[in-house]
Amino acid sequence: MSTSLTNNRVNLPITPHIPLGFTTPAQLRTIADAAEKYNGVLKIVGNSITILNINKADGEKILTELGVKPESFIAKSVRPISTCPGKPHCPRALQDSTTLGLLLDRKLFGQDVPAKIRIGISGCPNCCAEVFVKDIGLFGTAFGYTVIIGGNTGRRAQIGQIAADKVPAENILPLIEKILEYYREQGQDKERIGQFAARIGWDSFIAAVIPEAYRK
Ligand code: SF4
Repeated sequence: MSTSLTNNRVNLPITPHIPLGFTTPAQLRTIADAAEKYNGVLKIVGNSITILNINKADGEKILTELGVKPESFIAKSVRPISTCPGKPHCPRALQDSTTLGLLLDRKLFGQDVPAKIRIGISGCPNCCAEVFVKDIGLFGTAFGYTVIIGGNTGRRAQIGQIAADKVPAENILPLIEKILEYYREQGQDKERIGQFAARIGWDSFIAAVIPEAYRK
């Protein structure tokens, strides 16, 4: 397949949603076949595969043929969840980041928020999922999850701050839902969650969203 982007079609990237980036050889073949059929160009981006060089009508056909929803490029939404390889693939894993990641992806992906939210989960403190530069990052320890808030990459990159510790896996979803609810209510349009926490004061933010038992 050519990687040339020389024709005059409107270029609309299509990114099939692949939760956590875990796929199968069969799904990869299907995506490759669809890209070939519509003369698309494949680009691996993080946990995703994007099909470039596709016009809008062909992009919609591809999504229908693949039977998947698209990953959101909408700026103000919860983006697909990222995880490290984790259990059962990594012997260092202390928590099951894959099971938690699939739950968060199913419950939170695509939700409206004041600015984009990237969530990353690592199974241990090695933080292979780069959780300190996620809006909400988690890493596993022997005692549960450590929660980091306010990291991001991009033009104004910043490291997040540890906001909670020793949170049991089963309490992570309700905790993040509470954080997002407060952010949705109090955050300003296009204000990343780290900027929001800095504006209202980290102590106020922590007091509003983190149960006392988990505060650092
Ligand atoms: S973060 Fe830990 S558990 Fe996850 S892949 Fe890296 S070393 Fe393994």
